[in-house]
Amino acid sequence: MNAEIIAIGSELLTPFRQDTNSLYLTEKLNELGVDVIFKTIVGDHPEHLAGAALLALSRADIAVFMGGLGPTEDDLTREAVADALGLALHRDPEIVASIERRFAAHGWKMSANNAKQGDVITGATVLPNPGGTAPGQWISGQYKDQDRIILLLPGPPHEMKAVFDEQCMGRLRAKLPPQFIATRVLKIAMMGESQCDARVAPIYKLARDVETTILAGRGEVQLHLRTHGASLQAAQQRVDRLVEELEEELGDFVFSDNGESLEQIAGYYLQMRGATVAVAESCSGGLLAERITSISGSSRYFLGGTVVYSNALKSTFADVPFELINTHGAVSREVAVALAEGIRRRSGATLGVGITGVAGPSGGTPEKPVGLVFHALASEEQTEVIERKFPGDRDRVRWFSSQQALDMVRRKMM
Ligand code: AMP
Ligand code: MG
Repeated sequence: MNAEIIAIGSELLTPFRQDTNSLYLTEKLNELGVDVIFKTIVGDHPEHLAGAALLALSRADIAVFMGGLGPTEDDLTREAVADALGLALHRDPEIVASIERRFAAHGWKMSANNAKQGDVITGATVLPNPGGTAPGQWISGQYKDQDRIILLLPGPPHEMKAVFDEQCMGRLRAKLPPQFIATRVLKIAMMGESQCDARVAPIYKLARDVETTILAGRGEVQLHLRTHGASLQAAQQRVDRLVEELEEELGDFVFSDNGESLEQIAGYYLQMRGATVAVAESCSGGLLAERITSISGSSRYFLGGTVVYSNALKSTFADVPFELINTHGAVSREVAVALAEGIRRRSGATLGVGITGVAGPSGGTPEKPVGLVFHALASEEQTEVIERKFPGDRDRVRWFSSQQALDMVRRKMM
């Protein structure tokens, strides 16, 4: 079974509001083994809404309409769906009375236009909405000889969730064949999307029963795997088998197969080894420390750090010799090493991290272009340095540099 979600509201077509309801609904529908095959966002416009309704009914087993159940002129969902199905609306006096009671409880009088929230599509089951005035509606019917389930849900997120969870989940579960979806996400650090795909595509292409999606961005590639099964266990086993094959191919580039972030994983390994880390950051401006400390319990392995932007503070707080900066420049392999070794010595941490680079957009030169970053990791036995030329704007360069440093810590400790 598959579904289309139709989010209704002109505000959802502006830069100021996003359709978030469909994310929640998709998660719930997936729990029921239902794939969402289309999402439509449509404004409060009768013809556009009618078109969207007809299209959804023509192509999905389940059509979930949300929003546009309010009392005002521009709330047209009931009318549009009734039209598309060729069904009439009738006013349910019990709903109108309950809206009146709701207003009265707050000491208000119901205004006349609220009455239209009592309009019910012929044959629909009314879905009580404890959080608002507009009830939802459930229609189990046919469109051009095809069985269809049609849901009308209120737009405000807390109302939509309450009506869906309390009124629709159980009804859908009873109606749908047992079907389960299992998913896994593999996260890969510091590898390009195309490079990653070149390695894994030959594997996942053979697994036709598993849908594989690659998402890339911010120094991380994610492989999203998903499959159906007659039991959750069967579906899970199928995905797990593919995860194993992919992990074998990608080796230690995979940092998580369970949803964790890179800072969580780096922290996990540090703690497992009973190790500590301290950082001296220049171009990342504290972002690395911020990410490490965003993890609860990080005080067990993070001693602290320093943001050393000026040459003077690189020397004062991390013991970077001035002549080193004068000879090689603040953005250099040598200074990154000195930062890592300096902060490690100063703090007594197991590991010291140094980051120095050109975040841009100004400050680049032909020898030291924007995006050039040196990352150093000092331990008792050695100091390693990785030089990178990151693409993108200031935000991205800073993020990539924190990502690279976290990955070095992870690899050192794993
Ligand atoms: P409506 O049911 O059209 O009166 O919607 C009421 C309010 O619910 C809107 O102003 C939005 O703030 C919110 N809303 C409606 N649809 C959505 C949606 N798809 N995602 C998130 N919020 C929504
Ligand atoms: Mg609206």
